[in-house]
Amino acid sequence: EKMTIRELAEKMKMQPSEIVKNLFMKGEMYTVNQEIDYEKAEEIALEYDIIAEPEEKVDVIAELLKEDEEDEKDLVPRPPVVCVMGHVDHGKTSLLDYIRNTHVTDREAGGITQNIGAYSVKVRDRKVTFLDTPGHEAFTAMRMRGAKSTDIAVLVVAADDGVMPQTIEAINHAKAAGIEIIVAVNKIDKPGANVDRVKQELTEYGLVAEDWGGSTIFVPVSAKTGEGIDNLLDMILLTADILELKANPNRKARGLVLEAKLDKGKGPVANVLIQKGTLHVGDYIACGSASGKVRAMMDENSRRVKTAGPSTPVEVLGLNDVPNAGEVLVATDTDKDAKNFAATFISESKSKLLEDTKSRMSLDALFSQIQEGSLKELDLIVKADVQGSVEALKQSLLKLSNDEVVVKIIHGGVGSITETDVTLAAASNAIVIGFNVRPDATAKSMADQEGVDIRLYKVIYQAIDDIEAAMKGMLEPIY
Ligand code: GDP
Repeated sequence: EKMTIRELAEKMKMQPSEIVKNLFMKGEMYTVNQEIDYEKAEEIALEYDIIAEPEEKVDVIAELLKEDEEDEKDLVPRPPVVCVMGHVDHGKTSLLDYIRNTHVTDREAGGITQNIGAYSVKVRDRKVTFLDTPGHEAFTAMRMRGAKSTDIAVLVVAADDGVMPQTIEAINHAKAAGIEIIVAVNKIDKPGANVDRVKQELTEYGLVAEDWGGSTIFVPVSAKTGEGIDNLLDMILLTADILELKANPNRKARGLVLEAKLDKGKGPVANVLIQKGTLHVGDYIACGSASGKVRAMMDENSRRVKTAGPSTPVEVLGLNDVPNAGEVLVATDTDKDAKNFAATFISESKSKLLEDTKSRMSLDALFSQIQEGSLKELDLIVKADVQGSVEALKQSLLKLSNDEVVVKIIHGGVGSITETDVTLAAASNAIVIGFNVRPDATAKSMADQEGVDIRLYKVIYQAIDDIEAAMKGMLEPIY
């Protein structure tokens, strides 16, 4: 990470002597061949109004996981993947259960349902895949590697209770993830049910029913009597058609780990949602730091299957280790490829984590402290006018992490601060940092409303100073 003044000058297209002279004027002695670190280089560059950009480092994992371009002609329609979200007790589990029990796929006699994180149901002649984990854990965890697990979110709101805190949280998460929302107004069998009130309340969050002039689908349902549920399923299929969900089944499989565990008898078991391609028994696979060969696959009815195509959830046996939920599973051509993938993953993620937290602690100590809650986390969203500044800010901010507070950039990007940024900040309790950008009007009013802290800067080190101060605030509570 070090460079000489001469190298810096070359990058800045300046005479090295000029930089040395300038430093000398400030009482700092340097020679042209003297090595300086990145911070110093950044500081020097800033004096000439140049924002330093760290050299692009190749993210090996990102490279490995890179999506190859698909030919349009290879793509065929795939079932939608749906998650159910909403406030506690509004009926998410009941709804999932009702649908599962009434719309079983051609289950063979003796098939015992098992929880593999998701299940497929048959609606007319088509299929819909439901993620089994109620709540947004389902796709927040999945977004770790930028992969999207869900196409459609069914937002369950009890008609006798209306919009509640977790309803709003669910909306924010779905919006932040760019997921289509269908509202299921549940418990319409109850005497106190008021569908219109729910519609009214949700307009505040940008979900306006079609019959009220908006574009959000609202379906009144009862998870108890089953009323309206077929209609809800039809609306899911309709939305899927509009989204034109497609995948290529004839390629090496890629999937997302929904859950994984170590089973005494079976060894490592990963519940995987296949997203592209087809996974076969016998395929070589890698998944995070684990690798192996598919020994057997089971569907949600405990039946052995030989293949699993796009949008299909399966239990996969044969990995040599238990992967994390949210990891991407890839099928590889050879055993060696799979092992290499896993090995690269291990070394890369360790160095990346260490680098990101810039911590002197061991990995194990870090994890246990986070778990105990003695390590605090400061979440930031960074927006800037150019990618270089986003990266520069991220790098500098991440370096502020210390033994007690870890700085985490939960989102970074180019462009003005938008409503989505504010929503994400509100949902994650994050601070928004804008560098040479401003919030747009909706973002601003939303930030005021939600109490989201937006800070605007034109100089990088001022941003750094402020965040440093904020971290001190986290250490010493102000009464
Ligand atoms: P979750 O916390 O969102 O998963 O909610 P549950 O599915 O556990 O439901 C909470 C309670 O509401 C349970 O006692 C259910 O029996 C009840 N419930 C769920 N859906 C309905 C419904 O449509 N009508 C009525 N009357 N009760 C319901």
